Amino acid sequence: GPRFTHLSLVVFNLGIAAVILLSVPAVARIAWRGQRESRLYLLGWLPLMSLLAVNVLVLLGVLPTSLRPSPLWLLAGTALASLVLAWGLIDRARRDQIERDAATARALRDPLTGACSRMAVLPRLESAAAGTVLLYLDIDHFKAINDQHGHAVGDRCLQRFASRCRAQLRGVDVFARQGGEEFVAVLPDIGLPDALRVAERIRVAVAEPAEGAPSHTVSIGVAQRGAGEPVADWIARADAALYRAKAGGRDRIELAYAAALPDTELRT
Ligand code: GH3
Ligand code: MG
Ligand code: MG
Repeated sequence: GPRFTHLSLVVFNLGIAAVILLSVPAVARIAWRGQRESRLYLLGWLPLMSLLAVNVLVLLGVLPTSLRPSPLWLLAGTALASLVLAWGLIDRARRDQIERDAATARALRDPLTGACSRMAVLPRLESAAAGTVLLYLDIDHFKAINDQHGHAVGDRCLQRFASRCRAQLRGVDVFARQGGEEFVAVLPDIGLPDALRVAERIRVAVAEPAEGAPSHTVSIGVAQRGAGEPVADWIARADAALYRAKAGGRDRIELAYAAALPDTELRT
């Protein structure tokens, strides 16, 4: 009967009071530690919590019935709390996005040389048309520069090397650091003679002495992508050509052997 209803109301409200009493200190403690959002959540929930607390006290007979908050007030408090929560979630998502974008940008560029990262160049290699030329560049005896002049000088050599290479490349070309003192350049829409000229210009520009810095040379392997050639094979051919340039005395350009014909052509 009404007695039971009244009792269950009291129990219900005591439950709410307990939740409030338990959650407020926890949220307040987090807010105290300086998290912007939790301070805001606390503020957003405060009106509803106070209204509920007053409601409970009225039902328990501690406060006069005249102080009992109207359902409209409770509704307004709930609306405010939801608004603050929604705003907080949107704000959080927005800041997460900004952080993710920054992390992506960091992952796509090598911070030392400004060249593309290995990760960023992969899709460009995958989507490159047959005939695209890959230059595989490796600085000669770079370890000796580090050993004789220190790592900081070595770093500056890498930066100068990158800017000298880029000065010889077009806007459509991609220049990327593969790691250490190894770089690649991807040259689309270019004939092999022109690509070899670019490689030679890079070789000469790199060998140019620099004011107050140790000189070094570069070896370059050049490979033109075959029709339907997998990226791994293409890179392997350029790398093998680079190896021949090293073995042949360094400071030189070697052209890769031709790509294997695709299976379909061999069958006909
Ligand atoms: P080779 O002509 O056969 O290519 O000889 P190398 O000395 O250039 O080749 P090796 O692979 O033996 O040495 C590469 C060196 O590059 C070793 C490493 O200390 C140096 N190196 C790699 N990354 C960096 C970097 O970010 N900064 C500096 N300063 N040195 C680096
Ligand atoms: Mg090297
Ligand atoms: Mg190397």
